[in-house]
Amino acid sequence: MRHPLPDAGTPWADLKARMADYATGDVRWRDGKTAVYVFNAGPEVEQVQKEAYALFMSENGLGPAAFPSLKRMEEEVVGFGLSLLHGPEDAAGVITSGGTDSITMAVKAARDYARKVRGVTGPLNIVLPRSAHPAFDKACAVMEIEVRRTPLVDYLADPAAMAAATDAATVMIVGSAPNFPYGLIDPIGALSELAVARDLWLHVDACVGGYIAPFVRMNGGDVPPFDFELPGVRSMSADLHKYGYCAKGASTVFFRSAELMKFMTFDFRDWPGGRMVTPTLAGTRPGGAISAAWAVMNFLGVEGYRRKHGEVTSARERIEAGARRLGFTILGRPQLGIVAFTRPDVDGLALWAKMRERGWFTSITTEPHALHLMLSPFHATVADQYLADLEWAVENLKAGATTQKLEARYS
Ligand SMILES: *Cc1c(COP(=O)(O)O)cnc(C)c1O
Repeated sequence: MRHPLPDAGTPWADLKARMADYATGDVRWRDGKTAVYVFNAGPEVEQVQKEAYALFMSENGLGPAAFPSLKRMEEEVVGFGLSLLHGPEDAAGVITSGGTDSITMAVKAARDYARKVRGVTGPLNIVLPRSAHPAFDKACAVMEIEVRRTPLVDYLADPAAMAAATDAATVMIVGSAPNFPYGLIDPIGALSELAVARDLWLHVDACVGGYIAPFVRMNGGDVPPFDFELPGVRSMSADLHKYGYCAKGASTVFFRSAELMKFMTFDFRDWPGGRMVTPTLAGTRPGGAISAAWAVMNFLGVEGYRRKHGEVTSARERIEAGARRLGFTILGRPQLGIVAFTRPDVDGLALWAKMRERGWFTSITTEPHALHLMLSPFHATVADQYLADLEWAVENLKAGATTQKLEARYS
């Protein structure tokens, strides 16, 4: 639909007011009632994100020779990630625009590796658990790779089913740490053994877990090995703009060795514009996403992340305990910031809608119908309110169901 560009410009102050007006229908995530899409680490972190982003907003990560500042910040951020995720001495990585970008580039690298090193010809496939993120399907749709999704056992990847689904044309197997629907870490140890035994490329999708799981473990959480400490893991994705609390537009993709990362890089010179080397899907790369990531990580440090993530896990534990008291079943045994819960007598999707009436904007799972929360540090302050509203919603829906039954009987 066409929308004519105004002939005359508008003063910035007026535009600001209009933007605020446009936003009146948005969720008020700063109140803590949103548990999807936004990671709220509080106003201090938000300020660092914004100011650091603005400082390098016009600079371009496409040109490391022009902007050694960005190159240096990117290398340091990648180094932080690799040290948190047990990267071997020769491991390498880059900042991408997001989890989908990281995953797409990892799939591209694995595909090129299969073609060039293993000499695989003809149709290719990747094998992943049913709970893996659709970003893999998007990447495979673009690259015409078949996706084989295998059934779950107790909401987790089933290594035996995955083993059975692989063949000589399998370019990658995937485990999530954790998966998004249930917030549970797949048995990456067993997948690593499978990968080593069959010489398969194992990618661990730690988009939502890569920058929380190491700190939860430091806080004493029972987090099993899931990263490069397992020998079968060849690549990983970890989003800075999720539990890294960085500004949006920032993720990391890592490889066990610089040699493997070479299969990701696109190096082109057959045009009149000169040689162009791009590590990720993007050409122009926003400097602000890189500088904001660098600033937030240094601002928080290990202590800051441990504290923020401690608030996340304690909010999750309180909500889990409260939900159990109200008669819900938690799906699996979550350890990080995502939790999903269900009950047999009230439909999860109906509950989701009821909770929206009280201002809560969260997510759902469909297998089974369950409420799904992706928690931020700020939720520690509203956990009790959430549980009180959840109790109200359950009572309300049960009463409604009773009324409907009575009406059916007497009409
Ligand atoms: C968020 C997420 C992705 C995709 O990341 P985007 O930044 O939204 O592109 C991939 N995998 C998992 C497990 C995720 O949670």
